[in-house]
Amino acid sequence: MADLLVVGSVALDSVETPFGRVQEVLGGAATYFSFSASFFAPVHLIGIVGDDFPSEHVRLLRDRGVDVGGLKTSRGRTFRWTGEYGYDLNEAKTLDTQLNVFAEFRPALDERLRRTPFLFLANIDPELQLDVLRQMAVRPRLVALDTMNFWIQGKRDALLKVLAEVDIVTINDAEARQLAGEPNLVKAARVIAGMGPKTIVVKRGEYGAMLVVNGAFFVVPAYPLEAVYDPTGAGDTFAGGFMGYLASQEQVSAAALRRAMVYGSVMASFTVEDFSLDRLKRLEPAEIEERYGAFHDLVRLEA
Ligand code: AMP
Repeated sequence: MADLLVVGSVALDSVETPFGRVQEVLGGAATYFSFSASFFAPVHLIGIVGDDFPSEHVRLLRDRGVDVGGLKTSRGRTFRWTGEYGYDLNEAKTLDTQLNVFAEFRPALDERLRRTPFLFLANIDPELQLDVLRQMAVRPRLVALDTMNFWIQGKRDALLKVLAEVDIVTINDAEARQLAGEPNLVKAARVIAGMGPKTIVVKRGEYGAMLVVNGAFFVVPAYPLEAVYDPTGAGDTFAGGFMGYLASQEQVSAAALRRAMVYGSVMASFTVEDFSLDRLKRLEPAEIEERYGAFHDLVRLEA
């Protein structure tokens, strides 16, 4: 079992879906990631919040065992994201992004964290992602990165720079097309691999996820759910299950990568069952294993 380090947004989200609406609830890429990964391996979170961030949110992460020693509180307002989804829950429409305290954030990793073997650069300014990567005293065994349209469009050069140094990229399908400038996902994955990461994980919402390693493909479906309330955080929760599972294994083998894809899908399937982290808060480890088992039945070819 190895430790995981994550840097990314910790946020207050306001979200509207056809099934409800929430205001300033706990969100953020690093939040969903660390909560999800904590079911598999020890996680250390690097990020920043403002002095308006409710202490109960920090307590929630700490109670899950997430090391929040690297979560800084600064004077000012917490990062805020406002988004909405139509009946097609696969696509979030961003209505507002306020970086607030993230605009001036300069993370400083202590000596211990600089040696963490698994690093996840969750969705945030690629300059911050690169800053954290550069602070590592030892090249981690595995570095993965996630990003979104906001940064692909706004900070493309910085993003390309950090992409060149990572092993894995996790990205949703629309963003993979945007990053590659290529509508065909299979070709887009090849273009992205040319930017650096040997392994590409394309998240496709209700259509599942696709793994591409050196041109070879593996796909997992999404768990079929009747009640999907809010897809926010599904991608980061997927990444948390995926990286958390890999960190729990002796080796990042081809077989472990495939199982990690299923654990990612399992974790994401829980997140979307409620708003914010509400479903994850109620999640029991036994439910994870039960749903993992259900995936076997979903994809078995022979009786
Ligand atoms: P996803 O897993 O892709 O649904 O990510 C959802 C989370 O991303 C939300 O909780 C937001 O707070 C966060 N987020 C939205 N926009 C950004 C951004 N530009 N940078 C970092 N995090 C963001």
